[in-house]
Amino acid sequence: MNSPKVKTANRKRRREKLQRQAAEMTELRAKVFARAGGRGELCGLSSMPFMTVYRNGHTGTHSGVVNQLAHLNGGIGRRRQQQSVENCVAEHEYCHHALDDRPLKWMERVKDHCARYNYPLPERFRILEAKQLQQKGVTNG
Ligand SMILES: [Zn+2]
Repeated sequence: MNSPKVKTANRKRRREKLQRQAAEMTELRAKVFARAGGRGELCGLSSMPFMTVYRNGHTGTHSGVVNQLAHLNGGIGRRRQQQSVENCVAEHEYCHHALDDRPLKWMERVKDHCARYNYPLPERFRILEAKQLQQKGVTNG
């Protein structure tokens, strides 16, 4: 059993870790949104006001502003790699959903975005691209 002193120290460490993560997240958001300059980083549009019907039949109305932090790698990678300026783009809610729903449709835009900032193509898109090439019967070399 840990002594009360150790428990207090553990609690403090946990709290500090959460505070640090929250601060990192705030900083990341600020950096990504500053880079975006009010435009969706993949769609390139500043505003996008409309209603959407999702594939599951739900509808959503959108504020039309770029207010979402979308992850290019989706579920792939550890938290620290996920939460990086390379892996995050500022987007509209609609585009964020569309990206998560059908990433392949965004391939060229993701490539342009990565090339523009000299970021490596995220693993999820490298995998999608490799599958695409396989299906076309294209070989490398
Ligand atoms: Zn957008």
